[in-house]
Amino acid sequence: MGKPEFNPRLDRGAVQIISRLREAGHETYLVGGAVRDLLVGENPKDFDISTSATPEQVSAFFGKRKARIIGRRFKIVHVYERGTLYEVATFRRTPNEKERSARPSDDGEIVWRDNVWGSPEEDANRRDFTVNALFLDPTDKNKIIDYCGGVADIEDKKVRSLGDPMIRFTEDPVRMLRAVKLKAQYGFEFEDDVEKAIRELALKITLVSQRRLYEEILKITYKPYMAKTMEACHEAGLLEHIIPNISDILSSEDKDTYLNILNERDVLITQGGTLSRAYSLPILAYRYVEKCLNPGSKFGDHWEHREGIDRELRQAVNDFMKPHNMTRIIAARVKDVMMMQGRILANKNINKIRRHPEFFYASLLYRTMAPHLGWPEADFLPEPRLSSHHKAGQRPKAKKRRSP
Ligand code: ATP
Ligand code: MG
Repeated sequence: MGKPEFNPRLDRGAVQIISRLREAGHETYLVGGAVRDLLVGENPKDFDISTSATPEQVSAFFGKRKARIIGRRFKIVHVYERGTLYEVATFRRTPNEKERSARPSDDGEIVWRDNVWGSPEEDANRRDFTVNALFLDPTDKNKIIDYCGGVADIEDKKVRSLGDPMIRFTEDPVRMLRAVKLKAQYGFEFEDDVEKAIRELALKITLVSQRRLYEEILKITYKPYMAKTMEACHEAGLLEHIIPNISDILSSEDKDTYLNILNERDVLITQGGTLSRAYSLPILAYRYVEKCLNPGSKFGDHWEHREGIDRELRQAVNDFMKPHNMTRIIAARVKDVMMMQGRILANKNINKIRRHPEFFYASLLYRTMAPHLGWPEADFLPEPRLSSHHKAGQRPKAKKRRSP
């Protein structure tokens, strides 16, 4: 953008890594979503770095204690700086036919990282959308390097594919979901060819591995746009293939209640930073929360602990989220938060759960859902203190209990 007033709050660790690689003679930039977010005025979630140095050079430069090469075939380097992890990737280009066929991906799907080293310009062009292909040099007055017209597209709020979207989405259908996220998060509009390609190719999203789709879903739960993203995914015809149960809700008369709950959560998060999946996943699966809370459900009136209930609840959440399976750790946290809803609803033995590490999220979940589902007010719950803690994945520490 080059305007003198463009003076974003840059992450110090990222700037340090970039400066050091540059001093060592390697062309290095901040890239991708972080640059886009800074230009639209949002706080970036993570800071990705691209460099002309090879992974071996990067890892040798920072040393074993700070850097580790990740991935066998598609190498990137994880660099730890100031207690944070940064991904440092070498500039790549799209491999030609011959190179591509010589380098099949591990799990048979096309992996966009399956590339060979290239120039910064080639690296920009193998990305998905113009707005995601910007580079920023923090050592030169935050100069933006724009090979693909991304700055103009950010100003015009346009999702423009790099290359023919019919080809790029067929190559990697996850890009359709990424386009929808751009639309929902920033209020961007699709270019006509992007819109048309998604309409024609939506079904291809089923070819993407569950692992990659689940990663994208988790990313949605880290941002304050869950309502808009789910709605946009549904309208684009993708959601029915990604999480059919949610797509069904959005086609039913429950749609407004559902979107209102999601929206309430989004507003809360906008006010106080990114919250935990232990809160966001049950919100996403609200029908399931509601069903399980129903007195007389197979989970019992107020979810008193009993043998086997852990497994049953985990199964129930996974049934809702099908075909995705949560990891055991997330599932266990979600289950804890869910179990506490019954107690709060009944205002029963609340003191026993106050010190539970998930009590804060359980309270927040209750507060978010109650007004929309006719649950009684629970003014004995703690006020949401959002801004002081709760970065992505963090949760309040449980006070240590003294042994009796
Ligand atoms: P988020 O805010 O969700 O992290 P992001 O655009 O940074 O959004 P990442 O998954 O972190 O998403 O990817 C970083 C960058 O890598 C993107 O900005 C884009 O340039 C490129 N990229 C990611 N996924 C793809 C893909 N499937 N095809 C092409 N380029 C991609
Ligand atoms: Mg990113």
